[in-house]
Amino acid sequence: MSYPGANASPLRVAIVGSGPAGLYAAVELLRRNAAASVEMFERLPVPGGLARYGVAPDHAARRQVCGYYARLAVASGRFRLHANLEVGRHVTHTELLAHCHAVIYASGAAGDRRLGIPGEDLPGSHAASEFVAWYNGQPDFAQQRFRLDTARAIVVGNGNVALDLARMLLMSGERLRTTDVADHALDALADSQIREVVILGRRGPAQAAFTVPELLELGELDDVDVVIEAPRDLLVDDGASTQAMRLRLLREHAERPPRRCTRRLVLRFLTSPVEILGSERVEAVRVVGNRLVASAGGTLRAEATPRAETLEAGLVLRSVGYRGRPVPALPFDDMAGVVPNRNGRVYDPLSNAPVAGTYVAGWIKRGPSGVIGTNKPCAHETVTVLLDDAAAGRLERPRKSPEDLSTLLSARQPSLVDYAGWKRIEREECDLGSRRGRPRVRLERWEDLLRAAH
Ligand code: NAP
Repeated sequence: MSYPGANASPLRVAIVGSGPAGLYAAVELLRRNAAASVEMFERLPVPGGLARYGVAPDHAARRQVCGYYARLAVASGRFRLHANLEVGRHVTHTELLAHCHAVIYASGAAGDRRLGIPGEDLPGSHAASEFVAWYNGQPDFAQQRFRLDTARAIVVGNGNVALDLARMLLMSGERLRTTDVADHALDALADSQIREVVILGRRGPAQAAFTVPELLELGELDDVDVVIEAPRDLLVDDGASTQAMRLRLLREHAERPPRRCTRRLVLRFLTSPVEILGSERVEAVRVVGNRLVASAGGTLRAEATPRAETLEAGLVLRSVGYRGRPVPALPFDDMAGVVPNRNGRVYDPLSNAPVAGTYVAGWIKRGPSGVIGTNKPCAHETVTVLLDDAAAGRLERPRKSPEDLSTLLSARQPSLVDYAGWKRIEREECDLGSRRGRPRVRLERWEDLLRAAH
């Protein structure tokens, strides 16, 4: 049966994923349709997605967006959180559509791009996402260990994540303690033997993906010399663009005499790793120098030169971008790592027809780029097409009630975490923090999170 219009029965929407994209979509929907309700699903016991488990601990203010938006959603009285429940495992897409008019997937990009070079899987070589999840206390990574008993770490990639990793590796123990970095990471990082972090950018300083505020923060690290290794002529641009500002900052670092600090951060441009070396684990990285060549489309790409060198290092973090993973029951564009969609409405690429009642928002819709705020217009666009479909009678009326959904969910996952459970986790983390003189002590193990929630 077709849903005859937005006002005929209150619109019920499932949102899968509770990061910034999902929460922005929830609030947008609740605001624009006064009768709509949202059922939000989260695999982990705590909502927040990358706002909790991706944003670096020293960027505390950026994490708060999720708490704020979740409070707005709850205040509507038309929002329920079902955390510790995995869509595709505990419930299917078809089951969600039996209980809701529509489903929005805001499940992010949990995979990583690969370098495709020999040695990439040696112990001591990790995807950036693992290190980020570890220092943020994501419960799947509580047992992970990283080699910090080495003098040099190499970070591959020139985005903001690469700068986050470098800051975390070089930050003093005292500064780390003022953040809510996970306890296990605090202990390990405070004991770290790493004295130098080298960030490898395959293209030049003008092509780097990191942004000015993040670059400014590098200069604020205690007892760290920032060294720029790039041809000086590539650091010149006197314009007023953001790129010019970034080059000016890099040039200032390049011209600053070394302060003889205990630790060094080297930003080395026009350099690519070609092999990660080591018999049992990472011992060094073979790199080549690059030159920039214009591609047919006009962009500058890196081309290897014969200049090669071996850099000793015991830890390699590959920070060359995230990648979306297929969503059960939905079509997937494997090249782009996204669910095929137009403005958020999911399309089946074979039939070229929309997949009824199915939408995407955030990184699984547009790929892993942009800052937290980019998710706001993105969610607005998705909610607009969803509301258009509702108004045009293109959504099926759900056969089951919200009460049926509650029964189904608690049968499939007896230890669900709702909004009140999440608040109990938060309270315990803050209490632990105030007892130890830290902003918060994160619960890092599944059992501790679930115990606190219940
Ligand atoms: P990103 O911004 O897409 O940067 C990826 C970097 O990896 C680029 O420099 C890219 O170089 C390089 N790369 C890709 N393939 C490579 C290869 N095979 N070899 C060497 N280098 C390679 O990705 P990200 O750093 O993961 O960040 C993801 C998004 O989150 C970005 O939009 C970022 O701004 C955002 N973010 C924001 C913050 C913040 O606001 N503080 C913090 C973290 C993340 P090319 O340009 O040459 O391809």
